[in-house]
Amino acid sequence: MTVLMPRRLLLVAPALLVTPAAAQVVRTPAQMEGPYYPRAIPVDADADLLRVAGQAAPARGVPLLLEGVVRAADGTSLPGARVEIWQADDQGIYLHPGDSRLAQRDAGFQGFGRAVADGAGRYAFRTIRPGLYPGRTRHIHLRAQPAAGGTALTTQVYFPDEPRNEGDMLLRRLAPDQRALLTARVAPVDGGLRADFDIFLA
Ligand code: FE
Repeated sequence: MTVLMPRRLLLVAPALLVTPAAAQVVRTPAQMEGPYYPRAIPVDADADLLRVAGQAAPARGVPLLLEGVVRAADGTSLPGARVEIWQADDQGIYLHPGDSRLAQRDAGFQGFGRAVADGAGRYAFRTIRPGLYPGRTRHIHLRAQPAAGGTALTTQVYFPDEPRNEGDMLLRRLAPDQRALLTARVAPVDGGLRADFDIFLA
């Protein structure tokens, strides 16, 4: 017998599955890298994308704290895991020579950042809610790798309730449970938004 889970339950499922007793295997689905991974890593590549060394103005846009825990597929946290993100600025422009609007890019936005997970596997980035560009819904590109080496995961982080989600070529092809694993839990916080996104590596 098939039991359909209410959408609400599907969305919280990743959090429930990390309890030790569950011992279930969860893997964050991989997605294409896309054309905009930086060709050259910027000099300032830290986890605070709101400030760029040498730039007086901070990034424009809605500040977003992107954070979560990097875990192995069995739920064990992965201290020292390396996480990278890259994303469009508030106007939907990437830090990449292939972006035709590069000249209008927000110089106060770092566009790319790296973080190392702490002793509990927790990572955090200060960034902005990514701007929209033609053909895609709102998303952040992400790559994560265990400290010990191991296989890197490349994927994309999505936002709930975005008007373009249903029409997005990469997002709509996913089954609901896979989609839930790539959708951050977003909540308003003082001065912006917080997006919780746990990463489950193979
Ligand atoms: Fe993109």
